[in-house]
Amino acid sequence: MAYYNENTVLWLDGNIVKASEAKTDLYGQSLHYGYAVFEGIRSYRTAAGATRIFKEVEHYDRLRRSAEALNMPYRYTTSELIEATYDILEKNKLQDAYIRPVVYGPANMSFSPNTESYTVIQVWEMAPFLGEKLLRVMTSSFQRPNPKGFKIEAKASGHYVNSILASQEAKAKGFDEALLTDMNGFIAEGPGANMFFEKDGKLFTPAPGNILPGITRATVLEIAAELGIPVEEGQYTIQQLKTADAAFFCGTAAEVIGWDSIDNTKFPTPWKDTTGRRIQQAYMDRVTEQQHQTAKQTQLATA
Ligand code: PMP
Repeated sequence: MAYYNENTVLWLDGNIVKASEAKTDLYGQSLHYGYAVFEGIRSYRTAAGATRIFKEVEHYDRLRRSAEALNMPYRYTTSELIEATYDILEKNKLQDAYIRPVVYGPANMSFSPNTESYTVIQVWEMAPFLGEKLLRVMTSSFQRPNPKGFKIEAKASGHYVNSILASQEAKAKGFDEALLTDMNGFIAEGPGANMFFEKDGKLFTPAPGNILPGITRATVLEIAAELGIPVEEGQYTIQQLKTADAAFFCGTAAEVIGWDSIDNTKFPTPWKDTTGRRIQQAYMDRVTEQQHQTAKQTQLATA
């Protein structure tokens, strides 16, 4: 995939720089040790034609918390970075985009903390979601990192070696994606998404502690509350998952995407009849600010 062309610009510590001309130091601590933090954010063209970054405050607040968790200097306010992001989207003429801010360190081959860090914001086009494909998911042989070894709630670059290993393993075995357990063998999350499963009209999702508690996961909890769908957060096994009616991943890039099966055990409820499908629809309406008038509202409007 081509992330940029000769016209693409990025935001680098307050400067607008051509992506093809931007430079980084090959002696950087982040490159050598995975010591960087980042975000994955989406912008959407709304139903009214505007460009909106979804949950931008939540994402940039998490970026700050991730940097602080790793003892990295952090130079900007959330509102400065949001403004910079809208600016770079406009300069690249993008509405449906993926936004990738990264905070990284200077040249430093030791493990000592830095007095400075750099921030880059890159954006690239993301095609509108078509998501009817259901995922064949495999239980990974890799577990998520032990929270006693990592700041698991930080979105740190080095954690993603674990994600890459799990995802590559699943794809090499002919599956679409991996599901990782935590260090105790309970279901945790996907390589880049949280998960929910559904049983008898109720949703279940791994409790925070051994996962990245996603912003999309929080949005799904909000939507479920609005729709009156009961949700339980807890510790669940793969065996329990195999008896579920349906399941889905949720994440900024994945949005809400249904599963076909886990370890070749198919989920019995057709996706179109699941709670997950209702949540997927509500999620897409939210990100694109699509207003659905209820029958009652339409009546009032036309009365
Ligand atoms: N878990 C992991 C490991 C992730 O990388 C992501 C994507 N950031 C998520 C969960 C979902 O988080 P969010 O909804 O905030 O994108």
